[in-house]
Order: sequence, then C-alpha cells, then structure tokens
Amino acid sequence: MIVEMRTGTIPEEIDGVVKRAKSLGLGVQLNLGTDKTVVAILGSNTGQLSTDTFAVLPGVERVTRIMKPYKLASREFKSETSLVYINGIEIGGKRIAVMAGPCAVESEEQLMEAARVVKECGACILRGGAFKPRTSPFSFQGLEKVGLELLARAKERYGMPVITEAVDPHHVNMVAKYADILQVGSRNMQNFALLTAIGKSKSPVVLKRGFSSTVTEWLTAADYLLAGENNQVILCERGIRTFEDSTRFSLDISSIAVIKKFSHLPVIVDPSHAAGHYSLVPAIAKAAVAAGADGLLIEVHPNPKEALVDGLQSLTPSDFARLMEELRSIAKSVGKYI
Ligand code: PEP
Ligand code: MN
Repeated sequence: MIVEMRTGTIPEEIDGVVKRAKSLGLGVQLNLGTDKTVVAILGSNTGQLSTDTFAVLPGVERVTRIMKPYKLASREFKSETSLVYINGIEIGGKRIAVMAGPCAVESEEQLMEAARVVKECGACILRGGAFKPRTSPFSFQGLEKVGLELLARAKERYGMPVITEAVDPHHVNMVAKYADILQVGSRNMQNFALLTAIGKSKSPVVLKRGFSSTVTEWLTAADYLLAGENNQVILCERGIRTFEDSTRFSLDISSIAVIKKFSHLPVIVDPSHAAGHYSLVPAIAKAAVAAGADGLLIEVHPNPKEALVDGLQSLTPSDFARLMEELRSIAKSVGKYI
C-alpha cells in the first residue's frame, strides 16, 4: 500500500503514518521525494487492510494499493528515476556506464592488461569474476580471495572502480571490502539469502536477470535488496532462455523499455552472455544503447583464445576499441555520452 503525503506535509504527520503502520505490525519505507513524501506500507496482509486506515490520518493525500508483486522497485513508490553513484560515476543519467574486463580474473598479468586496455578505450568500471558460479563443478571456479586482491590492485593502479560477483551470503562482507559493486549472477537472482545479505550490506549492486525469470520476478527480487534499505541497485538484462539456439541466450531488448516504464531503477545490458559469440556482441551492445540502456557490461580479454572462461564471447582489445567508437555515436544520437 502506498501512502502519498500532501505537499508541504510536516514530519509529525509522516511520523503518524509510520506509527500507525508499526502498531499494526507492518513495515514501512519512506521515499522523501523533492516535492512529495511517499510511505510504502509493507507486509503480507496489507491486502486485508482498508485504505481508510491511513487515508484518515492528518497530512495524507491519497492511499493506493500497488497491484504488482514488487513494491519498492515500482514507479508507484518512487516516480523519479533513481541514480546510483559509484565513486562519483553517475549511473542512470546521461552517461552510458561501460563496465568491461575479463569474465574471470585469471592472473595478475591478464587482469592488469585488461584493465589498461578497457580504461584506454573509455570504460569507466572494471569487471572481473573472482568467484565464478559454474554450471559444472569441474570447471574453473575462480581465484576467489586472490582474485579479489588482484582486483583491488588493478583498481589502485588504474583508478577504476571494480565490479565482481558474490555467490555466497557469507562472502558478501568480504567481497564488499574489495569491490565497488557486487554482482548477483543470473543463476542467483532468486537466492534470497544472498539478496538479503547484500541488501543489509548497503553495497552498490548489479542484479542480473535470471535467465528463466520474468521481468516481474526480477523486480520482485530487487525488492529484497531495496527492503534492506540498499537503494544503490542497478538491474542487468543478460538474455533469457527461449527456443532460439543460434545465440547463447535471447537478449530481451524490450525489457529495457518495460523496466523504464514500471521501475525507477537504472538498467544496464550484458551483450556478452546473451550473444555467446564475440562476433554478435557489437550489434547487441549498440541495440541496447539505442533502446535506452544506462550502461553495458562487456567481456574483454587481452587474449580470448587463452581465456579460462568465456573466451568465445570475449572481445579482443582491438574489437573493443572499435565498438567503443561506434557506441559513442549511438549514445550521442539518443542524447547520451560515454
Ligand atoms: C558473468 O557476468 O560472468 C556471469 C556469470 O554472468 P551471468 O550470471 O549473467 O551468467
Ligand atoms: Mn562470463
């Protein structure tokens, strides 16, 4: 349930709504907008409650029910678009934030070279997996803590914030010590213990779409992060399973527009995992920017032939440099920049 306060409401009136909700055993979250305060009333049984419970309170303008399963991620709760700041880099505004680097951190030499290249080409955030969620237990699982240490070294050397995946709720605080953004992988989109831990950590987070999840399920998973009062949440479309098998996954380009319509959260696109092949990545990346994505997450490897993970979909430094040039003109044509 959403309680919209009158413009110019006083703190005591907001307090009155919060107290009433708490007395009924319900949770609350406030959106202190520039001209209006909105109070979300949260709980499993708000459906049984009359809207009059809050409509009668002083300072209340309107009470509405959010009919969708997700609440905090919805535009009903927050009509203005959210901006996320990573070391001064704004995500969700006019800048297309390009996050690039290898699928996995493999060695110091590989990561430093990748960082140097992506920075030189204009990427603003370095990616690299230290903990890898692999389909097979026999595949390379990542360098784990050593990988995090290498990311921290690359961050220091190249002055770039880093994004890396957390796969275990018990690792969240450790990963957050090294990384500027935590990534929740597609396979973990509904790992609710992980989402709750990241929500509590208040660390900026990129929530990838589960490859078998609807947009509604994805936004409802985002509510787990937002419920922990972590408002630095970025969504990432990375392709879903369809009957089509000429790409690794089918990039759901329409989800960008759907997210923009129904949610205030920024959304980026990972063309690499959708494509599965380096030759398809540039077209998908350009389409994403044209469709309104706030950023891109792209796999780049200094030597894809030698990559331990996802070499086939990783761009070479020269392919990435070319793509960045092309992306600049697409960004400009939609009123943005890289
Ligand atoms: C990744 O970004 O390396 C990754 C594993 O992606 P996804 O979770 O989208 O498969
Ligand atoms: Mn990968």
